[in-house]
Amino acid sequence: MCPTCGHAQGWRLGDGRLECPRCGTRTPLTAGTIFDRTRTPLTVWFDAGWLFASGKDGISALSLKRTLGIGSYQTAWAMLHRLRSVLVRPGRDRLSGIVEVGETYIGGEEPGLRGGRARGRKVLTGIAVEVREPEGVGRCRMAPLADGSAASLRAFAADHVEPGATVITDAWQGYHGLDGLGYVHDRRGQRAARARGDGPGELLPAVHRVAALVKRWLLGTHQGSVDEAHLPAYLDEFVFRFNRRGSRSRGLVLYRVLELAVGHEPVRYHELIATRRPLAVKPTPPQARGHPPSLERPAARRPWRKA
Ligand SMILES: [Zn+2]
Repeated sequence: MCPTCGHAQGWRLGDGRLECPRCGTRTPLTAGTIFDRTRTPLTVWFDAGWLFASGKDGISALSLKRTLGIGSYQTAWAMLHRLRSVLVRPGRDRLSGIVEVGETYIGGEEPGLRGGRARGRKVLTGIAVEVREPEGVGRCRMAPLADGSAASLRAFAADHVEPGATVITDAWQGYHGLDGLGYVHDRRGQRAARARGDGPGELLPAVHRVAALVKRWLLGTHQGSVDEAHLPAYLDEFVFRFNRRGSRSRGLVLYRVLELAVGHEPVRYHELIATRRPLAVKPTPPQARGHPPSLERPAARRPWRKA
């Protein structure tokens, strides 16, 4: 549909764009999606989406650059962050049933870094995990918290857990008042855990398991090189993959990622970078560089595919 006049038909032009027969506006098919105005061919995007969605642990920007032969680390890094930015659908369902809610510190551990370089700050992160009866773990949600105060923890619970759910927490005072938000609050004290013969780590077993998995993933796939500003995006990626770990088909996970990507508004590079340093060389304005490559691309040079 024409973005200018709303006409629902168009002529296909030689460069892959569509021209509106009524008002003459020329629009690429990727307009209004996260693929808008990127110079990466869609075939490469699909490959990247597959590596992102199909791997058990996803892929790091460096591996993506090497695997697909992408020209720069920044391009590969921005592609992965664009994919991460679409994963949280506004108005998605909240967790329900029996939900463990806890918090943990994530990040700040950079093995091999010693001496002068400042260590990353650990970020307090809220974790909510559905507990299945009689055993097992359902979906999870994670988000950074400003602090461990009652205001932060209540806001986290309200954002991620459906009212009416049974919320299990430890005895920390920050969790006082959850009953008032419409939850059945099950507070577990250290003393009660010890009486059952459990160690303190067994107080919230599902939360501890998810916290251990996300920390291992950040250290393994991303070598712990996750800064505070981008941590929420990495948490979204972990949650997306964790909640689809039982999916029959990896192809369906890729389909979902692409569906979300097409439905998501464009994400610009400057929105992805955390700090904006003034550029030494002024960039050429996009208009002066001609149009981005069309969708009609010659086949990628991959001779092994023909064999
Ligand atoms: Zn038009």
